[in-house]
Amino acid sequence: MPLRIVNRSCGDCSACCVTLDVAELQKPAHQPCKFLRKGCSIYDARPQVCRAFDCAWLHGLYGLTGAQRPDRLGLIVWASDATIQVAETRPGASKEKAGRTVLYALARRNVHVRVHEMEPK
Ligand code: SF4
Ligand code: SF4
Repeated sequence: MPLRIVNRSCGDCSACCVTLDVAELQKPAHQPCKFLRKGCSIYDARPQVCRAFDCAWLHGLYGLTGAQRPDRLGLIVWASDATIQVAETRPGASKEKAGRTVLYALARRNVHVRVHEMEPK
């Protein structure tokens, strides 16, 4: 079980089920998963990649308030391959004041940060 620094839950956020690609389901990035209803409709049978995914907000690695939850902030932050990955859930969110604040805080930790910007629709 991954270390949880603070006791947070996803609540009604489902940003990762929309923004991230899931190869096992042929789900492309930035499209809602076909199993997403009010939560995951195949929760007990969801792919391993879904089981393993926890974003950095959920772990309390940034953000003191619920305002920085990924669906509200417009950014999902997670660690992968010794890099902090940041994906926009809303076009331009990484350039908004709240998004830049999170990115600067991550950069101060002297880690490699990769930002995945979202094309405007
Ligand atoms: S983006 Fe984070 S808080 Fe939102 S549903 Fe995924 S793991 Fe939970
Ligand atoms: S299978 Fe479930 S947990 Fe995985 S992306 Fe789809 S809705 Fe989300």
